[in-house]
Amino acid sequence: MQSNEYFAPLLVISLFIIYSMHYLGLFKFLRMAFISREEKWKLNKFYGARFSYYNKLSDKDKERFIVRAHILMHKIRIEGRQGFKIDLNEKLFVLAAYIQLTFGFKKYFLPKFKRIFVYPDAYRNQSTGNMHYGEVNPRGVIVLSWKRLLKGNEIIDDGINLGLHEMAHALMHTIIHSNDHELGLDPFLRDIVRLSKHEMEKIKSEEHHLFRRYAGSNIYEFFAVAIENFFELPVELQKELPTLYTYLVRLLKQDPLK
Ligand SMILES: [Zn+2]
Repeated sequence: MQSNEYFAPLLVISLFIIYSMHYLGLFKFLRMAFISREEKWKLNKFYGARFSYYNKLSDKDKERFIVRAHILMHKIRIEGRQGFKIDLNEKLFVLAAYIQLTFGFKKYFLPKFKRIFVYPDAYRNQSTGNMHYGEVNPRGVIVLSWKRLLKGNEIIDDGINLGLHEMAHALMHTIIHSNDHELGLDPFLRDIVRLSKHEMEKIKSEEHHLFRRYAGSNIYEFFAVAIENFFELPVELQKELPTLYTYLVRLLKQDPLK
């Protein structure tokens, strides 16, 4: 009858463990972390057919990319606007730039940006009345035009990539306004901001510059355009702006030339 003596305390301990796991979100975490072989195979096929960045990764990094896509799908709400339909493929596509930009980080989730809205094409911004292709709302929403997102990925060497551009805004906002991000990024961003002032003057006054004129608008656009060029034209960026290139490698903890 000894087992009966232990039954009550064991039950209490078990209930306590189950409750703690639920309270700490461990069940949700385990559900998120679990990815079947079949799903891995599907995601590998999806990204392999569409993203040159993904195809250049080692097998180990491809697996890391896929696991991150699987986790972020549970963490970020991606919604279509103006009748745009979002299924699994659209979600995976939207997340690719997010994963690419933060791939060098251990803490790759930008906690403030839990929602992404996708419009079929250009849309009118309610507060400015202007037509936009994308924006990052400081209240925590990233907005994208699907058509432009596709185009950015189709032409991989023109230094224009809407997905990377808007994700860069979200990353910069996170570094400046929150401490909840990969550690140690702040001084690297400060280096880039310092350098950008001089470079923005050059963009505005020079006939030819690697960056399009829009990068001269302000530091936020400069940073976003720099990120687009970093991934799409790394050879040219390293040649023409080697210091900026080095700063971006330090900030993003990855080097497209390696
Ligand atoms: Zn922008």
